[in-house]
Amino acid sequence: MSRGFLQLCSDRRFHRAIMLAFEEATGLAADDYWIEARPGGAPSWADNTRASRLAHRNGAVFMGWAAHGDACLGFPGESNERLADRLVKTLRKRAEEFPKATHIGLFAHGEEVQVLNPRGG
Ligand SMILES: [Zn+2]
Repeated sequence: MSRGFLQLCSDRRFHRAIMLAFEEATGLAADDYWIEARPGGAPSWADNTRASRLAHRNGAVFMGWAAHGDACLGFPGESNERLADRLVKTLRKRAEEFPKATHIGLFAHGEEVQVLNPRGG
């Protein structure tokens, strides 16, 4: 059975939409993956975390790195473009750190969650 890991912002408006988009993109069920959340989401951690390493060590083959636009309390005053740019950089860095996993980026804004892969697109 596949497992995963998702790191996201704790924002009340977006956490559920991001989790559902992660499940849809990976085929994982809600109890197939670990999460880690705080304001700012994945870009708020400069380095990978204990939770991500534990998940990876315990079989997380899909790793999701998420952030959102429309004002994030983790990065006050930043534009959607800047927030999305931070996410892309984080996604690339983590993909290098965990080369065996499949990585996806999730950027929520408005009513949608954009899914990104590390190579762009
Ligand atoms: Zn946020």
